[in-house]
Amino acid sequence: MPRPAVRPLVVSLSALALLVAGLSPAEAKPAPAPSAPPQAGSGGRVTEKIPVQSGYGGAVASVDPEATAAGLKVLRNGGNAVDAAVATAAALGVTEPYSAGVGGGGYFVYYNAKTRSVQTIDGRETAPKSMPHDAFIDPATGQPYPFTPQLVTSGVSVGVPGTPATWERAVNRWGRKSLAQNLKPAIDIATRGFVVDATFRQQTLDNKLRFEAFPATAALYLPNGDAPAVGSVFRNRDLARTYQLMAKQGAKAIYHGPIAKEIVDNVRNPRKSPTTTLPVPKGYMKLSDLTSYRALNQKPTRISYRGLDVYSMAPSSSGGTTVGEALNILETKKFSSADPGRALHYYLDASALAFADRNAYVGDPAFVDVPTKTLLSQRFANSRACLIPDSTRLVTPVAPGDLNGTGCSTAKTAGHNEQGMSTTHLVASDRWGNVVSYTLTIEQTGGSGMLVPGRGFLLNNELTDFTAVWAAADPNRIEPGKRPRSSMSPTIVLRNGKPYLAVGSPGGSTIITTVLQTLVNRIDLGMTLPQAVAAPRASLRNTATVTAEPPFIDAYSSALTPYGYTLTPSGDAFTSAAEIGAVAALEFKRHGLVQAVAEPTRRGGGSAGVVYPVR
Ligand code: GLU
Repeated sequence: MPRPAVRPLVVSLSALALLVAGLSPAEAKPAPAPSAPPQAGSGGRVTEKIPVQSGYGGAVASVDPEATAAGLKVLRNGGNAVDAAVATAAALGVTEPYSAGVGGGGYFVYYNAKTRSVQTIDGRETAPKSMPHDAFIDPATGQPYPFTPQLVTSGVSVGVPGTPATWERAVNRWGRKSLAQNLKPAIDIATRGFVVDATFRQQTLDNKLRFEAFPATAALYLPNGDAPAVGSVFRNRDLARTYQLMAKQGAKAIYHGPIAKEIVDNVRNPRKSPTTTLPVPKGYMKLSDLTSYRALNQKPTRISYRGLDVYSMAPSSSGGTTVGEALNILETKKFSSADPGRALHYYLDASALAFADRNAYVGDPAFVDVPTKTLLSQRFANSRACLIPDSTRLVTPVAPGDLNGTGCSTAKTAGHNEQGMSTTHLVASDRWGNVVSYTLTIEQTGGSGMLVPGRGFLLNNELTDFTAVWAAADPNRIEPGKRPRSSMSPTIVLRNGKPYLAVGSPGGSTIITTVLQTLVNRIDLGMTLPQAVAAPRASLRNTATVTAEPPFIDAYSSALTPYGYTLTPSGDAFTSAAEIGAVAALEFKRHGLVQAVAEPTRRGGGSAGVVYPVR
């Protein structure tokens, strides 16, 4: 049993006002750091989950209390938001290994207070250079492999990881600490262990069939054939050693040398159990795919919405263009919390239209001519917004828009949506005013299910984000060396050029609608940020059905029925959760006050913290 948690250091607002008197709040030098990390319980383990905390000196929010504490520790030790984000992400690799880790990829969005600009890193996984177009077709049947659990549990779905290169690039470009210093808290957690909660146990059980397919995975995550018990301490010493190697050698430890060889070997010849019934198709990865991997510096997407500047991730993610286009569509509409039915009608139909365009036009820009500028233009959005009837819903799926902006055609096209409930989002800020919004993933909860034996991390199945059946006109068709289209939408909103919000979420293609809905809740519907995050969610991604969390159906189906919406409960056959997304967010208030916000209940509740909390 963990001992009762130690309460975080709390100072009153007025005391803090004195402390910062005469200084620009963001630059106020905080008082000496407390010697013990906040919220720490037995053996230094952190179990207390605080969904909302406000204060000064920097903030972190993530889905996990150990990870948030790791980020806060780095902030206290003089690290900046980038250092804290990498430390938090590395800790998530230990405590949320089914959502993120060095075997996956992600997108890192950074507001640099010095240059007052938003910069991003595209750390998306890439397809091996010898991956054929028909990689997802089963030669035995001539048909695509069934998606879950067959295709996702495979070598062929593993992309070249981007996360190690992202961490290294972020720290080298913008950090104040070394990668080694930022990995230290995660090494400690992996070594001393963390306390298993119900979410971790359930996610393990949801993956039992897949994990049993690989002896190395089963040995770590199904000791004695069962998922670790709630309340037990879980250690991952192999991962601690992998991080130690990265601390010495940098990302090279993963992309060159023995670990790289082992990744390739496992992808090409998955070490599957002789008793598994899963086919586990082999992959095409070569050592040269790993040695040539690069995380990319990218220009962010930017649109303006209700006088705010919304920055997010450009392709290869579809997050920035799709959230951006939907906001541009909503910009043309008037709505408020006084009429929730109308507000939600506009939100849902704007999502559907933006998804139609995403599906038709967005892919890896290194391979596809993505009309990013047009998709983000108000003129194009206007040509889409006029399609939304005032009193009835659009019939979905709708056709993509005409890029010349002469739109308002109503022909239909089939939507294509990757479903996924994995991934994780974190946000961090620091005393200098820098902000990070970072989403990272190994795709499916549990990734490919394949652990690199002796190295303690799972390999992704990110390539299943490609369209399975190849078509020349599909911007997301499989190509060797290409990045599959993502939905990850790490977002930073500026007001008058200064950070106002940082938001992001996991959830496959529902990431886009979750970020959009959270922004609309906060900006248009008068909710506070904690309310905007906690509010029940619905998602329309240009399919025929609107999926919604059961509490959303209870609250809003009567308001939406007059518009013709029928709401289908969210959730799928492969996971136990009916939740849409899991947001981590920050709001920057006056005089340097920051509010860190995590989920109060989804995924078992997240964890928000600030360096100097106020009541
Ligand atoms: N692979 C998905 C994407 O990049 C994220 C997976 C998830 O959130 O479940 O969009």
